[in-house]
Amino acid sequence: MRLRSLSLVLALAGCATQEQAQKAPVASPPPAEKAPAAPPKFTVDLSKPMPAGLDEKAMDVKADPCADFYQFACGGWMATTEIPADRPLYSRGFVSIQDRNEQLLKTILDEAAASTLPAGTPFAKQLGDYYATCVDEPGLEKALPEVKKFVDQVAKVKDARSLAASVGTLHAAGYRAFFEVGAIQDLKNSSEVIAMLDQSGLGLPDRDYYVDADKQSVRELYKSHVEAMFGLLGIEAKLAQRKADEVMALETRLAKVSQTKVERRDPNKLYNRVDRKGLVEKAKDFPWDVYFTALGAKDLSAINVNSVPYFVELAAIAKDTKPEQLNTYLTWVVLRASTPALPKAFQDEAFAFSSKALTGAKADRARWKKCVAFADGDLGEALGREFVRRAFGEDGKARTNAMVEALQRSFEKNLGQLAWFDEPTKKAALEKVGRMVGNNKIGYPTVWRDYGSLATSRASFFANSLAANRFEVKRQLAKVGKPVDRTEWLMSASTVNAYYDPQKNEIVFPAGILQPPFFNRDATDAVNFGSMGMVVGHEITHGFDDEGRQFDVDGNVKDWWSPAVGKAFVEKAECVKKQYDAYVAIDEIKVKGDLTLGENIADLGGLKLAHAAMADWYTKKPEADVGSRFTRSQQFFLGFAQSWCTKMRPEMAKLRAATDPHAPPFLRVKGPLGNLDAFQQAFMCPSSAPMIRNGAERCVVW
Ligand SMILES: [Zn+2]
Repeated sequence: MRLRSLSLVLALAGCATQEQAQKAPVASPPPAEKAPAAPPKFTVDLSKPMPAGLDEKAMDVKADPCADFYQFACGGWMATTEIPADRPLYSRGFVSIQDRNEQLLKTILDEAAASTLPAGTPFAKQLGDYYATCVDEPGLEKALPEVKKFVDQVAKVKDARSLAASVGTLHAAGYRAFFEVGAIQDLKNSSEVIAMLDQSGLGLPDRDYYVDADKQSVRELYKSHVEAMFGLLGIEAKLAQRKADEVMALETRLAKVSQTKVERRDPNKLYNRVDRKGLVEKAKDFPWDVYFTALGAKDLSAINVNSVPYFVELAAIAKDTKPEQLNTYLTWVVLRASTPALPKAFQDEAFAFSSKALTGAKADRARWKKCVAFADGDLGEALGREFVRRAFGEDGKARTNAMVEALQRSFEKNLGQLAWFDEPTKKAALEKVGRMVGNNKIGYPTVWRDYGSLATSRASFFANSLAANRFEVKRQLAKVGKPVDRTEWLMSASTVNAYYDPQKNEIVFPAGILQPPFFNRDATDAVNFGSMGMVVGHEITHGFDDEGRQFDVDGNVKDWWSPAVGKAFVEKAECVKKQYDAYVAIDEIKVKGDLTLGENIADLGGLKLAHAAMADWYTKKPEADVGSRFTRSQQFFLGFAQSWCTKMRPEMAKLRAATDPHAPPFLRVKGPLGNLDAFQQAFMCPSSAPMIRNGAERCVVW
């Protein structure tokens, strides 16, 4: 029941080295006059100590790193790890940290619910009320009348005017009916905050699920699920079936005019600054004044829409659809999003559907785990304050900051070596990265969100959840017309992720990810550069991927590239697209090279820059890894790969292949490494090795 951010943030999840240690065998000609010696081959000396921060048990040392590096780094972990029944995937990096964070957040929330948090803890009442009602399962069993009452207030549409009023009321409460509303920086004038109306309102994960032939079985399961949920609401079977058809028909109509995920990667396609006047002119059969009044934003006038045709179709729907069908759809929107606040029978049905059709998870998550996640979504900065106080060390911040600066130097140095760049474009790129690094955020916000006006109680979870949603919508709409709040964070402090925000031109690393195996204060610097340094390099590179490069130093969509350099970039990006298009994600399903292009460019650039930064770093500490089982370069690549070891259920792998802008984790390891000289050298891989790409195959963007 949370509002998704409308921002275009790019989240993680995801030159030759200066090192003298080894050279690639390809570079060393056989000695003259003697029979050609066998090229040096990588071997592991098991008698030497493991470098700190690498997990020996996670590896498969019998595997050939040049044939399958993911198996070499993660094979042991893959063989011994089972995906927990309540998870669609498990990973050594993200999910294992999430599990740890979840335990700490639970402790905090348990204390909040028992009113035993330290005196003066901000927003302890809101946290306690929210969590106590959420974990109160007997309480949920009594929630149906309350939700039905809300449904009765909105699903009483008679005409276009009453439809607009209902949609406005629902949006004010955080429900995404037909579309969604939020605040965004104007894409071409980043200092102005305006409203954004964006396509939304589908129950399946993406518009493709409604139109693609290979998703027919998911559509059938979805229809049965909608029918079952209406049945639980007390509607008799025949009518429930008809209502499911109505929902499907209306959602399919929305899906057909929705932009694809690939289209949405182009900010120019999202930019339609129509303002109130233009919206009314273009989609006049939807009574916009009624809508904005019900939303609580009567005078909102600065507006961008993601797509004009989408809102033209919305107006057509308002005019030509029978009120009964509109009410069915609105009921479904409320029912679907309110499921977490409803009796267990509803949640079981929702889990059964998502398990079968989408994720493959074998058991629903324990109630407390769901509640921790909901609290993190709705009260993330109240919870995050206490999380940071208990778990985050300031040394983590200082060391990450040093790493960010090292990566910046590495980016600048690399830029100087790029033959395809000209001086003016180089100057602009340097200015952009300089500002970006200056804008970095590490750990947690300097200004925490004020939840003082959020009224909660111990009465019901549905009421608390609605209150939190209304608080968030109000907060979003209040931003319109005000100066950009540069202190705002788009992820909570406990989140195991990172992002680049192209409109603020900033990189952000929450405290949640600054933990082993991403950041380990006991690990060697080489290992940390491979895991956390790569993450930093990945986020920096997002400013210069196919999407991020379209934003200038100030966060405006603007072409700052000279034509020749822009053309060269497009060609280099095309190489990466082709590389990933050829990969199989699972079974017969290929990776989408266009959907994942930005992330793959960021992985490739991030890894290369982090490796160069590590090599530079060690020029000041030449003695550091003497006697270790792995050279620094090897440690770096192992540290990188071991933070991505992941097992995924087939259903989830299919869902991700269809919707995730990131390639599957095993390919996020394999894909970049095959293009890197430093990797080939580190493990002495012959050019013929399966891991290594050669000649025209090899892709280098940054
Ligand atoms: Zn990313």
